[in-house]
Amino acid sequence: DTPRPALKRILLKLSGEALMGDDAFGINQATIVRMVQEVAEVSRLGVQVAVVIGGGNIFRGVAGGAVGMDRATADYMGMLATVMNALALADAMDKQGLTARVMSAIAIEQVVEPYVRPKALQYLEEGKVVVFAAGTGNPFFTTDTAAALRGAEIGAELVLKATKVDGVYTADPHKDPTATRYSRISFDDAMSQNLGIMDATAFALCRDQKLPIRVFSIVKHGALKRVVMGEDEGTLVHA
Ligand code: UDP
Repeated sequence: DTPRPALKRILLKLSGEALMGDDAFGINQATIVRMVQEVAEVSRLGVQVAVVIGGGNIFRGVAGGAVGMDRATADYMGMLATVMNALALADAMDKQGLTARVMSAIAIEQVVEPYVRPKALQYLEEGKVVVFAAGTGNPFFTTDTAAALRGAEIGAELVLKATKVDGVYTADPHKDPTATRYSRISFDDAMSQNLGIMDATAFALCRDQKLPIRVFSIVKHGALKRVVMGEDEGTLVHA
């Protein structure tokens, strides 16, 4: 018997930076292809995959606000940046043989369809990969919060936060060689130790909903698959 995935439906949060690869900004084609291959592997195992994509590789509202722009306007620019990333991601997914559907939290109907929860659920049941664009649709929020929100809405069993480091460490592993990785940690302990897993709004939502988060490395080959197979990969933040 081939081992079955431990998870049925996941919400994967990819930051905009994850698409940059070693570039200074924008979208690196080779990186996006590699990432999509990891997603394709778990999708083919029968795991329903929804993705929330960030926009930091193109535009960050806080940075725009810092140079004198109205914060809400800058945040709308940031949300539009996530739509660009979502289109690139979905295109790469289609080329890898997946069927991707982009759904936007802000109306932009000539480009992508609007987010409609039952429709998203239907796509997932059909084995399509749903890419959620434009974050929550509201300024002053982040795509981490969108990941927590959509994760709760679609009944994901786990929010997967992809980072460059393969989990949560006791200290910054780049600065402190004695730092060790937590295999699991509770929401309460992560909070009292100020571990900064996600921003406070996103973290609070997951904690309230008892929606576990797993921090893992998307650059580590096969890590996503090991997570869905229930192996000890990255760090599980649990209720
Ligand atoms: N953003 C927003 N509301 C949201 C999600 C995102 O206003 O619900 C804006 C915000 O300006 C943010 C930018 O979009 O800086 C890009 O999102 P984020 O910084 O979360 O992207 P990531 O860090 O994951 O690449």
